[in-house]
Amino acid sequence: VKLAEDLATLAEFSEAGPGVTRLAWSPPHIRALRWLAGRLEEAGLDAQLDAAGNCVGRWAPNGAEGQAIGLGSHIDSVPAGGRFDGTLGVLGALAAIELLRERAFVPTTPVWLMSFMDEEGTRFGESMFGSRAFVGEDLDAYLSLSDSSGATVGQAMQDAGFSPDDVRAARAVAGLSAFLELHVEQGKVLLDAGVDIGVVNAIVGLLQARVVVRGVSDHGSTPMPGRHDALAAAARMIVALRDWARDESDMTATVGSMEAWPGAYNTIPGKCSFSVDLRVPDRARFATLRERLTDLVAGIAAQETVEVGVEITDFIQPAELDERLLTLIERAAETEGASHMRMPSGAGHDSQVLAPYVPTAMVFVPSAGGVSHSPEEFTTPAHCELGARVLARVIELAQGDAELLGPDA
Ligand SMILES: [Zn+2]
Repeated sequence: VKLAEDLATLAEFSEAGPGVTRLAWSPPHIRALRWLAGRLEEAGLDAQLDAAGNCVGRWAPNGAEGQAIGLGSHIDSVPAGGRFDGTLGVLGALAAIELLRERAFVPTTPVWLMSFMDEEGTRFGESMFGSRAFVGEDLDAYLSLSDSSGATVGQAMQDAGFSPDDVRAARAVAGLSAFLELHVEQGKVLLDAGVDIGVVNAIVGLLQARVVVRGVSDHGSTPMPGRHDALAAAARMIVALRDWARDESDMTATVGSMEAWPGAYNTIPGKCSFSVDLRVPDRARFATLRERLTDLVAGIAAQETVEVGVEITDFIQPAELDERLLTLIERAAETEGASHMRMPSGAGHDSQVLAPYVPTAMVFVPSAGGVSHSPEEFTTPAHCELGARVLARVIELAQGDAELLGPDA
């Protein structure tokens, strides 16, 4: 098993600059996917890039038949990202298969290994292209999104030698009985708890919006009573959003960008706009988020005598992960002598796309310092390898689980 070596090799496929920059469909990303396909072949898998740019490897020793257990994640990165986000889930899955081969373990069903195209969504503004294609979502609108240079997804595909007309051929989720994604935590929960393995039971739902507040611009000498100050109203809304999330458990609210017009020292802002990013892990609360956001800003707007509009820009349902798989992961961690705890994922992942279609679960290993999407991202070699060993144990344990692997799964 060459996990540390593979992680180091894959990190070399990058644009120049700090950390790893391997944006979706870029030359370093395509070269990395081709290297990966070759590496999977070397490990005894039958590997190819599918019509959506996913690298899919199939391991079916001794003619194993039926639905496969799927493993995987993504190897695209954000600009100046780290060498573990996504990559560990792909190379850790490969290490798991190599471990099983070393043990001369022969599964009764195939194992598939996927590296999904464009999980990050940084280049074109929408994430999880490859996993959405894998489950058969309609991606026509996605193909016409463009990057900062004006190139569309369709053009980027053609430049990389793919045909945007063929994306539907990537649909293959029906071939899976289960999907398992190993990932670095990208937070500090495991580190602070001193626990080795996170058993991810839910992936947060995400609501992103832009709030536009309209007041009346006027001279800074205007007396305080009777003003319609868009920025002061927005400031109250932002603090109220923070306090709302603080009062809930497992909820986050982030306002990361804000603009005010006309933006002069001596002028009351007549318009202010800010972004909102709200996350909760459960469907019940997620269903009420939009309405509660709208009510909160409308209430403050009324008090401040300004107008407010809320435009939802992204809305991704939370995923509740599969209880039987969670139990298998816990047993696998115990077999490896590793401590474990259940936790939600605060970041989005390909597993979120797979979960409505196939029993899905995630395994987290600790991120040093909780840092991710940064050149400083780090997970110890011991934790990387532990993650791979847990995946291997899950595959072993799943063989005895007729309910999981049976036709009803
Ligand atoms: Zn990731």
